[in-house]
Amino acid sequence: MNWREDFDESLLDQEALAYLVEYELDDPAAGITQRVITHGLSVLTEKQLHVFKKYVVDEWLNQKCQCGNHSVEGDELIGLWVNDGYCGRCADRMEKDARRGT
Ligand SMILES: [Zn+2]
Repeated sequence: MNWREDFDESLLDQEALAYLVEYELDDPAAGITQRVITHGLSVLTEKQLHVFKKYVVDEWLNQKCQCGNHSVEGDELIGLWVNDGYCGRCADRMEKDARRGT
């Protein structure tokens, strides 16, 4: 598969992946992600890579902030997942704006 060559491995933040394993993923995606955390992508079989790409990379890692202005990487993704699609920074800013508006 070609995507691995183009794949930005900086997306594979340990903390973000561990969060997914803990809270979001079911097997087999959870087991495969756990393997990526401990051993990296290179140990996965083609089939496992396919599952990882489909259920983890596409669904969780390739996300942009809802503000539409920037992409989100690494452990900032966790903020995105817990703040309804906004990164921690945007969520903070919106909260401050909301407070100022009242
Ligand atoms: Zn943002």
